[in-house]
Parts: sequence; structure tokens; C-alpha cells
Amino acid sequence: MPRLALLGPPGAGKGTQGRALAERLRIPWIATGDILRQSVAAGSEVGRAAQPYIEAGDLVPDDVMVGVIRTRLQAPDAREGYILDGFPRTVPQAEALDEMLEALGQNLDHVVQIHVDKEVLVERLSGRLICRDCGTAYHIRLSPPAKDRICDQCGGELYQREDDEEETVRSRLAVFGERTQPLAEYYRQAGLYREVDGDRPPAEVLAGILEAIGQS
Ligand code: AMP
Repeated sequence: MPRLALLGPPGAGKGTQGRALAERLRIPWIATGDILRQSVAAGSEVGRAAQPYIEAGDLVPDDVMVGVIRTRLQAPDAREGYILDGFPRTVPQAEALDEMLEALGQNLDHVVQIHVDKEVLVERLSGRLICRDCGTAYHIRLSPPAKDRICDQCGGELYQREDDEEETVRSRLAVFGERTQPLAEYYRQAGLYREVDGDRPPAEVLAGILEAIGQS
């Protein structure tokens, strides 16, 4: 099974696609943003270190993130492939990941960037609602739940992420352009990089990703 990293700006659909790919390929979906939000809620050391950066729409320092991923990749369920969503986000993170994988005798098989234009992202993020229990994403206008603020999948409560507020969204998009976009070149040079159009219905994006990784 593949070891896959999903790249793309906030709001591109990495979470939606990561979850769908994990189900389809039966490998874990590892979303660093979710791990950090759980750590903040639990009040752990990682959570306390990460919280101010998340609230500002900035990146959590590389050493914290590399520690989080190092621990997660050592879990038994990560032996036979996984989907990384939200990691790596900087070139030093990508270099640290390469070193970690080499030490484990593994390598990344594919890096897929989900491309969506900036104006679409701002609209998507500013209306986004997320289920507190299962993490499914909705949009107030574009894909509303059947019942107000209730998840169609599991009945959980839907909430707006604090960092989806418009000003923070703009910082997150700027940070993506400056710090994460250079990864496209990094992985292009490694021969792993593919890009798919993310401005389509989720099922079509999923089909595009599966085709890009030779699993369709
Ligand atoms: P996400 O849920 O992927 O949008 O991540 C939410 C926030 O968590 C980001 O805006 C960052 O503050 C932080 N974060 C998640 N993954 C990383 C990472 N790989 N490097 C640095 N910060 C991260």
C-alpha cells in the first residue's frame, strides 16, 4: 500500500480526500492539524506549544511537528502505508521526513498537490463547518447538512474552526504560499510530484487522485 502525502492550501479538500482515500485504500489517514487540535483540547505539552501558532494562522515550529510525526509513524498501523495530510508543510519538515523514512527503510511513493484558486479557498473556508465527533466537513451554503449544525454522518455537533475566521484564513494562505509552496519543487525534483484539480465535486477529485497514484 502506498505512502502518500497530500499537499495543498487550507480549504483545498485535503481532509475530505484524505479520509476518503484512507477508507478506500484501508490505510491510516494522518492529519497533523487534527492531531494538534486534539493535543490542544487535552492540554498536553505539544498542545500548549502549538496553540498560539494555530490561533495566529501561523505554522507550529518544525521541531514540534517532526516530533509529532516521528511518534505517529512508529505506531503499528503505519507500517503498511498511510496518507499524510498537512505534513510536511516546510522544506525542513520534508528533509526530516526523508531522514526518518530512510532510517525505517521506507520511502514516500507519491506526493499529490490538490490545486484550488485562492478566491475559491477563501469562500470555502469562511463558510466551513466541521463535525466535532467525526471531522466531516460541510459548508453553510455549498454543502449544508440536512439538519442545522448536526452532522449527517454521525449526528455530532458542527462547529466553525476558530482559525477559519477571515483574517486568519488570509494569514494561513500567505503562509502556504511562502513556506509550503516550495515543496512542489522539492518533490518535483524527487520525481514524486503530481497535481490534481481540486475545484470539482469531491468524488471527481478522489478519482483524479487515485488515477495520479495508479490506484484507479
Ligand atoms: P490544518 O488542520 O491542516 O489546516 O492545520 C491547522 C493548523 O495546525 C495550521 O494552521 C498550523 O498552525 C498547524 N499545523 C498543522 N500541520 C502543521 C505542520 N506540518 N507544520 C506546522 N504547523 C502545522
